[in-house]
Amino acid sequence: MDIISKESLNRWLTDLMARYQVMAPVLVEGDHLFRPISSPDEIAWDYYNAVVPPKELIFPLTESLFTLEYQNGVPQFQEPVIDRDTVIVGLRPCDARAIAMLDASFLNDPVDTPYARRRALVTLVGWTCVSPEAPCFCTSIGGAPNGTEGLDVLMTEGIDGFFVRPVTEKGKALLTGAELKQTDATPPEPPPLPVFSTEGITEKLPDVFLSPYWQEQVESCISCKICTFLCPTCYCFDVRDRRDGESIERLRCWDSCQGAHFSRIAGGYNPRATKTARWKQFFYHKYLYYPERFGGVIACVGCARCVRKCPVNIDIREVIRDLKEGLPV
Ligand code: SF4
Ligand code: SF4
Repeated sequence: MDIISKESLNRWLTDLMARYQVMAPVLVEGDHLFRPISSPDEIAWDYYNAVVPPKELIFPLTESLFTLEYQNGVPQFQEPVIDRDTVIVGLRPCDARAIAMLDASFLNDPVDTPYARRRALVTLVGWTCVSPEAPCFCTSIGGAPNGTEGLDVLMTEGIDGFFVRPVTEKGKALLTGAELKQTDATPPEPPPLPVFSTEGITEKLPDVFLSPYWQEQVESCISCKICTFLCPTCYCFDVRDRRDGESIERLRCWDSCQGAHFSRIAGGYNPRATKTARWKQFFYHKYLYYPERFGGVIACVGCARCVRKCPVNIDIREVIRDLKEGLPV
């Protein structure tokens, strides 16, 4: 395996910054977020994970889809300029895995063009979580603190530098010029996380859709939508038009199935008018509908952002455990 010293890594990153936009975890008003950097000194090397997942760099919170402008009565159509080549450095394996899940949804037919254009310009360099702890549960759901799914390069911090593992051809190409050295040493193994079984959850869900359990479980939800906005695998969006004089811009922005009016349809009928119905949608989409569509893959990576940030302590791990034990029907 190859290893790179911290000094050489800094030189490589500085060299990348001349050719790419480099995004990395930085400390912003007490929270870690992914931001463009102009020096390796800005990187929060010891961060745990970003509050907002790096999905926002590929699927932005708000983005322009196109602008239509009338010039002398003739409509002119303009597509937005999609950002330059970007390297995202330091994302955690759970978030890279989540991006692979977004890819399955956005890049399959019909391809989502803005996502596809942005995604093609991005290279993902992940960092192993060297000290993961609960409530993270990636290992219970098919991931690992040193997993490589979705990544182009995985780096693992050791005593003498970072172990470097190229995962894709894109990752190998990115490492050209990096001062790598071969080593017989092996990367440190992350400490084990508590593991619980999620096997069979998908199969159980159709039979318990009408269980009274769901209402009891989400009674305290206040529909704040934090769980969905911070979830790295959530990708609901809304499309709106903004008029400014003779110009109309079509925008897409994140939306949430936890919003009271998210599912309201023409005529005013709302098939998910209750908190219970909405939270069930959050859970069922991840653990039943997505797996049904994408080869059994559960669209939850165990990052536990929803557990950490829910203001009323609704805990998805608890639901998984209750389901395993069996719910009343
Ligand atoms: S743990 Fe919660 S926030 Fe993280 S992927 Fe699963 S549902 Fe989303
Ligand atoms: S974060 Fe908690 S309170 Fe907010 S919408 Fe999600 S489940 Fe409900």
